[in-house]
Amino acid sequence: MRKIADEAESVEGIVNIVDDLTDAGLDTFESAARRYGGDPKARAFLTNDGSVYLRRSSGKDILVDFAHEMTHRIDHKEGAGIFKKIGSDWYSKSLDVLDEKQLFRSEFRAYRVGNIVANHIDGSPRFATRKELFDHILSIYTNARNPY
Ligand SMILES: [Zn+2]
Repeated sequence: MRKIADEAESVEGIVNIVDDLTDAGLDTFESAARRYGGDPKARAFLTNDGSVYLRRSSGKDILVDFAHEMTHRIDHKEGAGIFKKIGSDWYSKSLDVLDEKQLFRSEFRAYRVGNIVANHIDGSPRFATRKELFDHILSIYTNARNPY
């Protein structure tokens, strides 16, 4: 969590908390998602240039989503471990170069950190067991494969 806080502080303007729907002249979650080629129905997303978009309507879950996306940002930026293939070029490549195992590991790490945050907020993690978490990832990312 310290790492996430430091990262968020070190780069100004990377976190955008926006309204869900189109509002004349203002950036919204859905317009931003379309602009970046993301899924307008997603809870949150990380852009190719490293910005995090969160929905204002997420309420307390916004912290969980923030922790999830920041974990991706830090992992990709550091090019560590499973992300070696991406290295410093992650901004322009991102998920495109992750194979099915890397994608699973990437999401596993992000959901795990989010789960820890959720547990801290009100003692109710989103996933009670590792299996629940695995199943969730595999249901959302059809191109992921459980490497464990
Ligand atoms: Zn993710």
